[in-house]
Amino acid sequence: MVGSVANGSGGAVVLANGKLEPLAEELIQLDVSSDCGLAKVENGVGNGELGGEDGEGKRAIVLGRNMHTSSLAIREPDVDEEVTGEGEAYMASVLARYRRRLVERTKHLIGYPINLDYEYGALAQLQHFSINNAGDPFIESNYGVHSRQFEIGVLDWFARLWELEKNEYWGYITNCGTEGNLHGILVGREVFPDGILYASKDSHYSVFKAARMYRMESIKVKTLVSGEMDCSDFEQKLLQNKDKPAIVNLNIGTTVKGAVDDLDLVIKILEESGFKNRFYIHCDGALFGLMLPFVKRALKVTFKKPIGSVSVSGHKFVGCPMPCGVQITRREHIGALSKDVEYLATRDATIMGSRNGHAPLFLWYTLNKKGYKGFQKEVQRCLQNAHYLRNRLREAGIGAMLNELSSTVVFERPRDEEFVRMWQLACQGNIAHVVVMPDVTIEKLDSFLHELVQTRSNWLQGGRNPTPCIAEEIGGENCACALHKK
Ligand SMILES: *Cc1c(COP(=O)(O)O)cnc(C)c1O
Repeated sequence: MVGSVANGSGGAVVLANGKLEPLAEELIQLDVSSDCGLAKVENGVGNGELGGEDGEGKRAIVLGRNMHTSSLAIREPDVDEEVTGEGEAYMASVLARYRRRLVERTKHLIGYPINLDYEYGALAQLQHFSINNAGDPFIESNYGVHSRQFEIGVLDWFARLWELEKNEYWGYITNCGTEGNLHGILVGREVFPDGILYASKDSHYSVFKAARMYRMESIKVKTLVSGEMDCSDFEQKLLQNKDKPAIVNLNIGTTVKGAVDDLDLVIKILEESGFKNRFYIHCDGALFGLMLPFVKRALKVTFKKPIGSVSVSGHKFVGCPMPCGVQITRREHIGALSKDVEYLATRDATIMGSRNGHAPLFLWYTLNKKGYKGFQKEVQRCLQNAHYLRNRLREAGIGAMLNELSSTVVFERPRDEEFVRMWQLACQGNIAHVVVMPDVTIEKLDSFLHELVQTRSNWLQGGRNPTPCIAEEIGGENCACALHKK
């Protein structure tokens, strides 16, 4: 053994020669309390997407810390590195500390929809291979170290879930939900080159990014308090643009409020407004694409309805250590997008070139292990735990909202950035949320609630400061301020 981290020795590494090497300060610091580099920026300045263009007024957003103050330098190996092993020891110590930090940070991960409940030990044996699925999943390239057989197994599973026949779908495993959106909207644009993109203002930022990248005309549609697309505003905007086809981004779970847009109503409005056979719907199911099919009473996302594509993130509800996603579209659409590539002996119909060949293995493994039944159970548990959290928040006098088909609990933004960072809460304006994933247990929620109630009493000065009103964001019936509480 070359070197090991001296546990509890105040940040030093034992080298092979027995000497102690102190660790750089930035490695020792594991707390999240310092606010170095914390920048307060006025919303709207150089930031079109989040700006006050909806008449919401100016509001400060807090950006994360400047990483350059704590980056880990690359050290040039010593000439006699092989003899002293100092470099190895340095790296081992850095990694051991990093691992400890990951364990701690993972314990407090509650604000982002990442399912940590997985066990992939069986796949460790494959990590030494450079698996790459560059190109079209259905056409084997000359690059032989691939996992296309797993990728297509996964795609078949999703196509069946969304009711598209094997010979009628096309799809691929993406690098993330964003890539699915970039692809789905591009397919829509290729099918209707002069189409206008319609998306609710609560859509993920990647949707508006796609519009900018593709230089598409785009129209933001208003939302209801729930975060759902306001269909009367949608209809009005459609009628003002009847001369051009419509490309619609439909949210199956919005990022902040977990709202599900009403697919059936959107289709009805399109058809009744003169857009029959002149629209393309991309369903952004990054968050709930895989949860919705298992929720009773939920609307159904299916290719039996006139939709063009559906995408989902693999690292969110499914649970996967690396970011990935799934994109499914109709085979008839993909020809418009594809180009043959001689160099690879395959076809280019994806956004990226090289594609992660490990991700399909992880997805394949999870789908096999859990199956429909497993996912169904997990979805039910998430919804139950989300109700538990919402109820407990309300009992504590904290306004909270939970959409019916969702496990995202929205509540008043904590006034304590340290607490926000500790629990990695995603905040927007006056609200924050917790996304209840399968790994978020009642115990985790209880410990979160306990800390929240304590620190909240500090910033409300034991009740001397009034409970903030967030009726505009979550509705009066969910708000706990003096005016709205019952
Ligand atoms: C997370 C999310 C995305 C983006 O997915 P990534 O996998 O993070 O790229 C897109 N849409 C919605 C609604 C999301 O919640």
